[in-house]
Amino acid sequence: MCELLQCGEFEKTMLARTVLLQMANSKKMEAFVRGNGWAVRSAARFVAGETAEAAIVPVRALNDQGITATLDLLGESVTNEQEVAEVLDTYLHLFEIISQEKLNANVSIKLTALGLDLDPELCKRNMLRLLKAAGPEQFVRIDMESSAYTQATLDLFYGLWNGPDKFRNVGAVIQSYLRRSADDIEDLIKARARVRLCKGAYKEPANVAFPDKSDVDANYVRLMQRLLSDGNYPGIATHDEKMITATREYARANDIGADRFEFQMLFGIRRDLQSLLIKQGYRVRVYTPFGTHWYPYMMRRLAERPANLWFVMKNALRG
Ligand SMILES: Cc1cc2nc3c(=O)[nH]c(=O)nc-3n(C[C@H](O)[C@H](O)[C@H](O)COP(=O)(O)OP(=O)(O)OC[C@H]3O[C@@H](n4cnc5c(N)ncnc54)[C@H](O)[C@@H]3O)c2cc1C
Repeated sequence: MCELLQCGEFEKTMLARTVLLQMANSKKMEAFVRGNGWAVRSAARFVAGETAEAAIVPVRALNDQGITATLDLLGESVTNEQEVAEVLDTYLHLFEIISQEKLNANVSIKLTALGLDLDPELCKRNMLRLLKAAGPEQFVRIDMESSAYTQATLDLFYGLWNGPDKFRNVGAVIQSYLRRSADDIEDLIKARARVRLCKGAYKEPANVAFPDKSDVDANYVRLMQRLLSDGNYPGIATHDEKMITATREYARANDIGADRFEFQMLFGIRRDLQSLLIKQGYRVRVYTPFGTHWYPYMMRRLAERPANLWFVMKNALRG
C-alpha cells in the first residue's frame, strides 16, 4: 500500500472511497456511528429523518424553495413477508402524510423492498395495492436496482402499465451505464412511460455496463436527448454539471420548454445547484430518503465524494 503522504490526490480519493465503502458494510462501525450525536447531525445533511413524520419539515423546506421531493424509505434487503408488509404500510402511511400535509412530493420505491426476491407475485400484488392507494394524484417511481433486477423490474412495470388497470401513476428508471439502455428507452418512449434517467449506482460487469465513465456520460447525453425529444416528462437525475449543461443546451436548441422535464438530485447534494436551477426557471425534484437504515446510505454518499468528510469532521469537532 502506498504511504498516504506520498499519494497523489487521485490515489487518496480512491483509498478514502474504498475505506468508506468497507465501513458502509460494517455492523460494528454502524453501531458505533449511530450512537454518536455528531454522526446523527451529519446524517441529517443526507437523510430527512428516521420516520415519515420527521421528513415533513425538510420536505416543506424544499417546497418553500420551489423544489419538489420524492420520498424514499431507506432499507436493507427484506428477508421475510413481515418485513415486506411493514415497508408497504410505511408507504401507505406516507401517502396519507403527503396528502394531509399538502406536500409537493411523490414516492420512490425499490421492488426488492416490496418482496421481489421473496416472491415476484407478492411484489406485484404489493405494487397493485400501492398504486390503487396512490390514486391519480400521487405518483410512484420504481427505482432501478442492479442489473440482476433490470428485466424483472421492467416486466413488472409493463405489467402495471399495460395491465387491466392501465396505471399511469407509475414511472421507471433507466441507467445510462447499461449497454441495453438505448433499447429500453425506445420501448419506454413508445409506451409513453415516464422515465427517470440516471447514470447507475451499482458495481456491474463490463459485458453488461460500460466500464469507462466517458462512455457512461456519452450514453447519458444520447438518452437524455431521446427523452427530451420524444419522452413523457422525463426526470434528468444527475449532479453532473456537464450533463445539466447538455440538457439545457439541447432543450434550448430544440425549443423544449422547462415545463417538459425536471432535474432530479439527491437530498443534501449540490444544494447550490438545486437553488440555481430553480432561480433560472427549471423544475427540480429532490430524492429525499428517510428511515432508520441511514448509516449505509450516508457512507455511500461520502464514498462518492470523500471531500464531504470535512463536513462530517466539522460536526464531530463541534460535538
Ligand atoms: C434523483 C436521483 C435518483 C436516482 N435513482 C437511482 C436509481 O434508481 N438507480 C440507480 O442505480 N441510481 C440512481 N441514482 C444514482 C445515480 O445513478 C448516480 O450513482 C449518482 O447520481 C451519481 O451520478 P451523477 O450523475 O451525479 O454523476 P457523477 O459523475 O457521479 O458526479 C458528478 C458530480 O456530481 C457531484 N456529486 C456526485 N455525488 C456527490 C456527493 N455524494 N456529494 C457531493 N457531490 C456529489 C460531484 O460534483 C461530481 O463531480 C439516482 C440519482 C439521483 C440524483
